[in-house]
Amino acid sequence: MEVNEIKIKNILVEHGKILFDSPKSSVNFTGIAKADILLNDLSDYPHAFVLACVMDRQIKAEKAWIIPFKFSEKVGGFSMEILKQLTPKQVYQLMSQPEPLHRFVDKMSILFHSAIQKINKDYGDDASRIWSDKPSSAEVVYRFLEFDGVGPKIATMAANILARDFKIPFTDYYSIDISADVHIRRVFYRLGLCSQNATVEQVIYKARTLYPEFPGLMDLPCWEIGRKWCKPQNPLCGDCYMNDVCPTFLTK
Ligand code: SF4
Repeated sequence: MEVNEIKIKNILVEHGKILFDSPKSSVNFTGIAKADILLNDLSDYPHAFVLACVMDRQIKAEKAWIIPFKFSEKVGGFSMEILKQLTPKQVYQLMSQPEPLHRFVDKMSILFHSAIQKINKDYGDDASRIWSDKPSSAEVVYRFLEFDGVGPKIATMAANILARDFKIPFTDYYSIDISADVHIRRVFYRLGLCSQNATVEQVIYKARTLYPEFPGLMDLPCWEIGRKWCKPQNPLCGDCYMNDVCPTFLTK
């Protein structure tokens, strides 16, 4: 690893640890108070968090994460008692009328129904059993991957949110990868950590190379840098805490 890469990694890890060690607070998933209360209630509605993860594909995250709340308004609650009685046809109707809750209602209603049934059969209606036995990070990621339609990106994102935001204890964090979205890929490129056209996999493996103990720890710092300062056009380098080590800024 080059000297500057080590410095960059150290700063990102340091900020990641500050965020990781900060006290638990309510996560702003949607910007809608009632929807966020439901998603943050892992004690009574852990399945809301899981079902939102299952919905989080091919639409904006905020739109996906609000689906459990919108669903609860339609059926008059969000208990597993209510949800597990729903047939695939009923889930499709609830998800498609009067307005579609997802861009791909056909497919996503099947995945929603399938996830409810899996929580019922495999976890006795208690989705918190996915993470409550202090599992390894690999085990948690694997358990999310077992849900139809959930790929590595969502599975590691879910594990990262559980560990970082909900302070759920795991025995290790090796399998929590960085979520290589557009912000993180841009920041990695500008920090000289990968090429401009790096694939998602390259960014993931670069993060693993930099900090194998917990690659996903750099996720939130990079995401914040991308949202706040490292904008696609006209990055605000003067305000960015990486500017002492950022090759893009230093070679301007
Ligand atoms: S210093 Fe500028 S280019 Fe570098 S990461 Fe920060 S905002 Fe992006």
